[in-house]
Amino acid sequence: MARDVYIFNAGPAVLPEPVLETTSKAVLNFADTGMSIMEVSHRDKKFEDLLNNTIAGLRRVMGIPDNYKVLFLQGGASLQFSMVPINLLGAGKTADYIDTGNWSNNAIKQARKVGAVNIAASTKEAKYTRLPKASEIKFTPGAGYCHITSNNTIEGTQWSTFPDTLGAPLIADMSSDILSKRIKVSDFGLIYAGAQKNMGPAGVTAVIIRDDLIGQAPENTPSMLDYKTYADNNSLYNTCPVMAIFVVHEVVKWIEDLGGVAALEKLNQQKAGTIYDILDKSSFYKGTVEKGSRSNMNIPFRLPNEDLEKEFLAEASKHKLLGLKGHRSVGGIRASLYNALPIEGAQKLAEFMIDYEKKHT
Ligand code: PMP
Repeated sequence: MARDVYIFNAGPAVLPEPVLETTSKAVLNFADTGMSIMEVSHRDKKFEDLLNNTIAGLRRVMGIPDNYKVLFLQGGASLQFSMVPINLLGAGKTADYIDTGNWSNNAIKQARKVGAVNIAASTKEAKYTRLPKASEIKFTPGAGYCHITSNNTIEGTQWSTFPDTLGAPLIADMSSDILSKRIKVSDFGLIYAGAQKNMGPAGVTAVIIRDDLIGQAPENTPSMLDYKTYADNNSLYNTCPVMAIFVVHEVVKWIEDLGGVAALEKLNQQKAGTIYDILDKSSFYKGTVEKGSRSNMNIPFRLPNEDLEKEFLAEASKHKLLGLKGHRSVGGIRASLYNALPIEGAQKLAEFMIDYEKKHT
């Protein structure tokens, strides 16, 4: 296939080429069934096997302990902003939220509709250019849980050490850094992630939940909003997103073939390091995030003025470097360097940046 473009989209994002190839075959004929992956029943034995293999694969690559379930849902990470409090923020409980930007704000807004929320820390004052220090976080004793956004896709910050929540289950929105580095799943009560950055296409959301947190939703919770429904039915209570799960299966296989999450973590450090090196040496480009909080997934930066930024994006496109526009709320440039972006993509971008700077200074 050998594509000649590099995709820096924030999400939906670049997928590995081998995954696109096997998916294109399955679109025509899934597992020798004669049916497309879009035509096969979610109750077909061959699909159920694939679903179970996807879960087993995720367990292997993430080191998910036996006392956790892996669930596949729809509704995006945004539905998890509501499902987490509906299931875990019962009457009389308070949930701690750490406010680190746009997506944690959206999670907070939805949680407030359900129950009592304490903002344990916020870096709003710093315009979300950093994450809070441990000493700045004020946990609620006996909190129902503490919610964080592990990687802030828009602002470009990423937790490197997770907060110690004084015993409350730590819940993380890992939409934009799941599978990008090793984590210890047992440090978390629940992890959720929309697939469309590092795990697959839009349309499926993974939830990794500790067994004791399942079955805590109030009696009157609609079945589709209760984690127990998905856990009891192996995510097959209703029609699951069959095709999206197929792609996740292929992505997990690709990760294992590459040497696992540890290998990707190393590559991701190298890719991000290539771009941060330029930002650190340049007075033309300005990274917007404090050094200790930088993300290896999303790197936002500014140029001296907006006209130069516009031209930078247009020129980059001509060089087949796509999807570099910053989020509409912050402007500027954002390079998203997810797992499937080849290291050559980061190198090409670095060369382009150096060249562009030379031409404009
Ligand atoms: N959380 C984070 C960290 C995100 O980056 C995004 C999407 N970019 C979301 C939540 C929302 O995800 P979805 O569109 O799947 O609801």
